[in-house]
Amino acid sequence: MSSSPALFIEVEVDDSVARDRELAAQLAEVCPVDIYRAGPSGVEIVRENLDECVLCELCIRAAPAGTVRVVKLYDDGALLGA
Ligand code: SF4
Repeated sequence: MSSSPALFIEVEVDDSVARDRELAAQLAEVCPVDIYRAGPSGVEIVRENLDECVLCELCIRAAPAGTVRVVKLYDDGALLGA
């Protein structure tokens, strides 16, 4: 499996929701650049798409407060929407 390093943003999904398949489907639906995928065991991050993030915050709003974090690596790890 290859993993490309994300340079721009990193996405973190809290363990409390990572296996929630319903939330996974919602995240896959809202993210315009397909960073989320609904897998058999819940939320999957499509790492090769990470740097396509358009900072729209839709994923953050779709998830319970604080459970999905978009980390701005280019801004010393500041959280999007925080
Ligand atoms: S902020 Fe928007 S583009 Fe970035 S991961 Fe969330 S939904 Fe996708």
